[in-house]
Order: sequence, then structure tokens, then C-alpha cells
Amino acid sequence: MMLCETQPRTVIPDAIPITINSPVTLEKPSNEPDFFEKFIVEPGTRVKLNEIDPSYKGKYESEAQALPAVSALLQTIDTLHYVMHAEKKNSLLIVLQGMDAGGKDGVVRRIVTGVNPAGCRVIGFKQPTAEELKHDFLWRVHQHVPGKGEVVIFNRSHYEDVLVVRVHQLAPAHVYSKRYDTINNFEQLLMQENDTMVLKFLLHISKEEQLMRFKHRLEDPTRRWKVSESDYKEREYWDDYIKAFEDMLHRTSTRHAPWFVIPSNHKWFRDLAVSQIIMRTLEDLNMKIPAPAVDIARIRNRYHAAELKAKAS
Ligand code: AMP
Ligand code: MG
Repeated sequence: MMLCETQPRTVIPDAIPITINSPVTLEKPSNEPDFFEKFIVEPGTRVKLNEIDPSYKGKYESEAQALPAVSALLQTIDTLHYVMHAEKKNSLLIVLQGMDAGGKDGVVRRIVTGVNPAGCRVIGFKQPTAEELKHDFLWRVHQHVPGKGEVVIFNRSHYEDVLVVRVHQLAPAHVYSKRYDTINNFEQLLMQENDTMVLKFLLHISKEEQLMRFKHRLEDPTRRWKVSESDYKEREYWDDYIKAFEDMLHRTSTRHAPWFVIPSNHKWFRDLAVSQIIMRTLEDLNMKIPAPAVDIARIRNRYHAAELKAKAS
């Protein structure tokens, strides 16, 4: 498992006015389709991934066209995250899953550059260590969920325990098949006990697009470090992964922890859709900047006294 935390920086979002102690109202980009509604896996439904076009790009023709919308969304997410961090009432867990080269790292980079790292952590889940394997599959996950006021991004997650584990039969069917309900209960606990909203994104690419990305990794010296033998091995199991994804979506998309299938052949469209869904979720939390915990009038008097003293000296 890998933990990556960037250094705190101070960002006071002064571009968008925040009214003290009242809900934050932000301008929505106009004429924007609601990707939350478009890409959500309605609880209980069964999705066929081969019926979802991974090259979908809505009304956008190019990255250049989508970029202003992505920038505006990221700025709004930063503002809302600032309020979340100040209010310390809610938290957000973002789960990223997808095939190798599906764009999980890319989404992480996009979102993390968009928010204040002081209230954001990224956790990557790799093959479990010997110690982790001695415990239940949620043991290594639970300790990293967000605290109040925090956003945490899981790059892979507890869902590997019903994906790679199922595809490679690392556990018997009677063990992993019970995990869907266990996961639902776990995510419900996060909401019930800690007001943690969970958003889960399946980054959906085509098999051709994956091969193209593998090729870029081989050709581009700055990307060669990503090349891995196992990517090619996992590709052989493509159809098994699709089946495992479809069951995962069917069994674990819930109201408080929905799955979204994001068309991801176009990286810029993927970033647009994911950031719009995060923005809308944060907005729906109706967060407020909390009232000051101290008597501001009294502190102001102290400030004036200090100011006078500084002038006199
Ligand atoms: P990467 O994300 O490319 O760095 O690869 C991480 C690898 O760890 C992937 O091949 C995952 O399938 C694997 N992995 C993550 N979680 C688990 C798990 N619970 N059991 C087995 N393999 C896992
Ligand atoms: Mg990989």
C-alpha cells in the first residue's frame, strides 16, 4: 500500500464570495448536462458495459473546448472543499477503479491539483502485504477513510477484493461472494457514523484504447516507468474483469455510495465528468462556513490595542 500526502499550502478562495454562516451559493456553468444523473448506476440495476460507449464526449469536440469547464469546476471544488475543511461536519471518499491504464493516476492528479492538500489525502492499494493478509479485507482500508472535513481518494480500493481476487480466484467463491454485502454495510457505516459520502468511479476504456496507452508507455521515455509485465497478463483476463465489474456495479451501487461509469477513452472528458459529479455532490451537502468560536468584538479590541502599541513603539 502506498500513501502519498502533499505538503499543506494556504489557499483562501477569494475569487468566489462566501457569506459567513450561510450556505455557499456558486454559479453553475450553464448548458451543462448533469453527468451525475447521466453516469450513475441506479441502485439495483444491471449495467452492460459493452453498451456504454467509452469514447462518449458529450457536446465537446476537443480538450481545448472542455478545458475552461474543467478549470471552473476545479475552482468550485476547491471553494467547497475549503468550506468542508472549515465546517468539519462532512467528509468525502472518492474511489477509483478501472483497468490498467484506465486513467486512475490521471484523475488523482487532476483532483489533487484542484484542492487544498491540507484537507486531502491519496491512498493507493497494491497487493496486500503479509501482515494485511492476516486480517479481514477491510482492515487495511478502514484506517484510511476520511475524517470530518477531509477528502480522501482511493486509487484502487477494497473493491479489488471482489475484482482481482475473483478473477484470479485468490479466494474461494463462497468467501468473495459475501463481500458485496460486507462492503455495502461498511460504506453505510461511514455515512451513518461519520457523514462520509462515498463516490465510486469506474473509469471505462476500450480494449483498443488500453493497447494504445500501453504503446505510448513504451514509446514515451517519460512514461516507460509505468510499463509492467502484469498489465499484459491482466489484459488476457479482460472479459473476466468486465463480468466482475458488472457484478460489482450491480451489487454495490447504493444511494449513499453510488457507482458512476465514466467514459474514459478521452482523458479530458473523463476529468470533466468526474469533477462535475464531485462538484455537485459537495454542493448538495449545503455546507456553511462555521460561526467563529471566539468573541470577535473582544478580539478586535485586543487587535486595536496591539496595533496602537505597535505604532507607539
Ligand atoms: P498498480 O495500481 O498498477 O500499481 O497495481 C497494483 C496491483 O495491486 C494491481 O495489479 C492490483 O490488482 C493489485 N491489488 C490491489 N489490491 C489487491 C488485493 N486486495 N488483492 C490482490 N491484488 C491486489
Ligand atoms: Mg498498473
